Amino acid sequence: MVFKMAVNSIKMLISEENLIQNIKYLEKKYAKKILPVLKANAYGHSIEMVSEILYDNGYREFAVARLNEAEKILQNKKVTDSRILVFESIGREFFDVVKSNNTIEISANTLAELKEFIENGISPDRIQLKIDFGFGRNGIIQEDIENLKKYIEKKNLSFKGIYSHLYAVEYDEGAELIEKFTETVKYLGKERFQMIHIQNSVGILLYGNCDMMTHLRPGIYIYGLQEEGFFQEGLKQVFKLEGKIAGVRDVSKSKYLAYNLKTTLSENDFNYAAKIKIGYGEGFSKANEKSCCLINGKSYKILLVTMDNTFIEVDESIKEGDHVALYSDVSKVREDTGLHICEVLPVISSRIVREKI
Ligand SMILES: *Cc1c(COP(=O)(O)O)cnc(C)c1O
Repeated sequence: MVFKMAVNSIKMLISEENLIQNIKYLEKKYAKKILPVLKANAYGHSIEMVSEILYDNGYREFAVARLNEAEKILQNKKVTDSRILVFESIGREFFDVVKSNNTIEISANTLAELKEFIENGISPDRIQLKIDFGFGRNGIIQEDIENLKKYIEKKNLSFKGIYSHLYAVEYDEGAELIEKFTETVKYLGKERFQMIHIQNSVGILLYGNCDMMTHLRPGIYIYGLQEEGFFQEGLKQVFKLEGKIAGVRDVSKSKYLAYNLKTTLSENDFNYAAKIKIGYGEGFSKANEKSCCLINGKSYKILLVTMDNTFIEVDESIKEGDHVALYSDVSKVREDTGLHICEVLPVISSRIVREKI
């Protein structure tokens, strides 16, 4: 039995057009291929939906943080002629999964790990080396590069790729990291790697087209999620979180709104509260209280977020069924809630249906 979606619910609409235009825009502007990052449920946009859209538009390379995210993409049987790079180390117990599934590429985050992969018969064509220049999170460290070179020369290994991560906030430090990475790739032998990449979204904005790199590796930019101070013209927001007002109540004679004293929710002595069907039970954070949403295109204040519902201070013009939009301008989310857009979107649960538009 299939249940129709509840009336007046909130949905997340995913624009195929904007997603693809963002990627094509970056490809064209920087004359590089894109390795789109789909971790954290494609930054909340639905990893299944985003991978399918990308696949249908001809993209075959994806990146995720964890092995179980690659498995989510692979539940879609048509995606099985793609390649999915997993950033984080995988446990020994999963070597067989990797060997039996040609789609998955793994990262060698230490030299010992690389040796273990090779000894266990994982093809170097399925391995990307991750180099660390002091970020301390993941990657083969500087001190091991010489031994790494000896090892790959002795075994005459050629890999799917090599990459690093830009962690520096200072422009010059980032430029230095790119320089160091370029030198390292040359030292190991550039011809041993099909893919060479280091730039995430902000790295793309700051350093543009870097000579040796074959790919750019953006997350936020493909979804059109702009970081304050790092605004890239030409990108469009991919999601819309919207729906309908589920009801409006006249609360003029009441002292309370859902267990809360009205006076604690607003300085105004408000008379009408509109209810929408999303709450912190779906990952719509209480940090949204006192921020705004759009109803029929006009701004209204969010009073209260409960587990299942959110209440909005409205006037008598607002009616059940009116259009409401949340997080309509991602560049304002930090200012309104204190949270980065990457913290609020991935936690929107599967109870909120994603719909391709
Ligand atoms: C998350 C991540 C990215 C994408 O970062 P954005 O800032 O979203 O562009 C790229 N590379 C690695 C290794 C990551 O973990």
